[in-house]
Amino acid sequence: MSDFGGAAKPLSENPDYKIAILGVPFDEKSSYLRGAAGGPAAVRAVSTGKCYCGYTELGVNLEEDTVLVDLGDIDTSGDPDKSFALTEKAVAAILAKGATPIVIGGDHSITYPVLKAFARSFKPLDILHFDAHPDLYEDLYGDRLSHACPFARILEDGLAANVVQVGVRAITAGHRALALKNGVRMVEMKDIQDPLYLRFANPVYVSFDMDALDPAFAPGVSHHEPGGLSTRQALQVIQSLKGRIVGLDVVELNPTRDAAAITAAAAFKIIKETAGRIVRPA
Ligand code: MN
Ligand code: MN
Repeated sequence: MSDFGGAAKPLSENPDYKIAILGVPFDEKSSYLRGAAGGPAAVRAVSTGKCYCGYTELGVNLEEDTVLVDLGDIDTSGDPDKSFALTEKAVAAILAKGATPIVIGGDHSITYPVLKAFARSFKPLDILHFDAHPDLYEDLYGDRLSHACPFARILEDGLAANVVQVGVRAITAGHRALALKNGVRMVEMKDIQDPLYLRFANPVYVSFDMDALDPAFAPGVSHHEPGGLSTRQALQVIQSLKGRIVGLDVVELNPTRDAAAITAAAAFKIIKETAGRIVRPA
């Protein structure tokens, strides 16, 4: 039984895969705690087919209805610039095959190189960003590539036509000004509607920072921000989304804080249900 609920197939026998898992074990741009580099291994370990089946809640069988492979991890032993370049290249190679990347971080800084690859294949592209934080800092402690900055870079480079941020609840005045200027829609926790129905006109990329979830549901993250989404609320948004999902990243899982691997299991659940929507859009 392989990982990802038994859905992951051997690459050697499936060169024409449809969905590719890619791990980016990188946490050098984390501003507070390290540990997110352990994310890909933690998700693989928890997602074993000995524990889970390949069916999503909406009835998609990831073992039968698609071809999912695990391409392993990016080599992140070099400097950050090299790790980012390798990440961008690997994502571009998956897209060049007409397949859909599912990227497991790593801290949120990896989303910028991933989106650079996406923007060349999809224009216009919409982004659905789950996070406690807008990640719109111009720089953090002088670093413009910090995990607090990817969406500032994405807007600056014009990589997205529309950005919707769901679950945000730690927002500075500067973030609000930048969001307003760039037409970013913030669905803040303080006034979120439940259920939340979203529709995207363009192909949509989903970037899921695990700290969007309440720490009660996802303690295994570096930045605990209470008052967040339940796992069920996040799944409801993904399951009901109208539009075509063309990529996903799940970032900021920090296994060093994840007693009982509960956050890794939540990350896998998000991956699984999103993969189902990639296979069968609405
Ligand atoms: Mn983030
Ligand atoms: Mn965050």
